[in-house]
Amino acid sequence: MAGKWILVVEDNDKNMKLVRDVLGATGYRTLEATTGARALELAVEHEPDLVLMDVRLPDIDGVEALGQLRARTCTASIPVLALTAEAMRGDRERFLAAGFDGYLSKPVDIVELIAAVRQHCERVPRTAESEHRRGASVR
Ligand code: MN
Repeated sequence: MAGKWILVVEDNDKNMKLVRDVLGATGYRTLEATTGARALELAVEHEPDLVLMDVRLPDIDGVEALGQLRARTCTASIPVLALTAEAMRGDRERFLAAGFDGYLSKPVDIVELIAAVRQHCERVPRTAESEHRRGASVR
């Protein structure tokens, strides 16, 4: 699974750093956005293998951002996991009903994070063409 691209959408610096460090140490490459709008731009431009989507963002919320990803052909099939501090009973079902592929609660459990990322990155093999496009614009 090494070398897959994960788009991390998170407006909290500490959470972003934790997720970035864990994914990087596990061999994943990360794209980072702190707003829903930027997340959409990066998703369209790079077609990441997976999106980790904070639900509470400064602009649009994560559910709306998910809807916008699903509405575009090029990003519709990218797996998206909700990342949220809300831990009320029933949240998991609510986020899955909204169309997320999975749910991770904050504070992030590192083992759970890696397991979920591995599981959801198994899916669509990248094409050489999309790999090239990413490589051209991401350092
Ligand atoms: Mn947030």
